[in-house]
Amino acid sequence: MKDIPRIIGEYDSDKKGPLLFITAGVHGNEPSGVVALKEVFEILNAEKPDIMGKVIGVSGNQEALSKAVRYIDEDLNRTWTKENIASENKNSHEKKEMFEIIDVLEKYPEKDFTKRYFLDCHTTSSASEPYISVQDVNDNDAWAHKFPTYIIRGFSDIVLGCIDHYESRIGITGFVFEGGQHESKISEKNHEGMIWLALQHACELNLDSLINYPEAAKMLAKKRKNRKTFEIEYRHGIKDEDEFEMEPGYSNFQPIEKGELLAYQNDKAIYSEWDAYIFMPLYQSQGNDGFFVVDEAH
Ligand SMILES: [Zn+2]
Repeated sequence: MKDIPRIIGEYDSDKKGPLLFITAGVHGNEPSGVVALKEVFEILNAEKPDIMGKVIGVSGNQEALSKAVRYIDEDLNRTWTKENIASENKNSHEKKEMFEIIDVLEKYPEKDFTKRYFLDCHTTSSASEPYISVQDVNDNDAWAHKFPTYIIRGFSDIVLGCIDHYESRIGITGFVFEGGQHESKISEKNHEGMIWLALQHACELNLDSLINYPEAAKMLAKKRKNRKTFEIEYRHGIKDEDEFEMEPGYSNFQPIEKGELLAYQNDKAIYSEWDAYIFMPLYQSQGNDGFFVVDEAH
């Protein structure tokens, strides 16, 4: 994806209200959020519907997006720690881009808006139902529950240095949205749908006022009747020297039963101790999370 500007789009109707700050492509191999933002801003700019406040679409790792790689020096979704930000050290490509994104956000301070929301768009390496990953701080969880997709609570809390942590830390309400598999066309549509729904809930955009009611938003809204909220029950950690092989065919949120063979680790079989759901089964060679077990929150 070439020549992605930092600001993909910006739109308001000159009315006081909230800020909706949308980031996409924080991982350079995940362009679907960027495609979706372009699509949405094209419609907003052509039809000029009324919204309260302002929406801004921001690209994440520009250099990595242009090279279609996940990152250049380090993962831009692990750099947002308190220490890194306080140090102001730009000793990697990603830290430079991180501070550029912070500069953009600082142009839209809290005092100029009734509230500030964020949406961070991602995709996954394997096929998955779209889902929200929400850090359970501030009013993030209640906000996430306005949306129709699966919600996973608390996963974001255990991975450090993510952009959503930074945004939550400075008092912005929001979540990460995983639209589906990296290259899938459906992921683009899911992101588009999520952006429209965020505009509806945050900026009071009346979707019926658009010339064509966005099909992507309709598609996503249909998921509401099957929505589930999950919590992490167990993380199966693996060490670099371990040989780990997941049984083939598992996808995110697939139900598992007690006694089911899940994986082999150093030739030892690993059986499920749970009647629950599998989450992020590891099928790539690197990583220290073999799989997670998640269950419906009560
Ligand atoms: Zn990502």
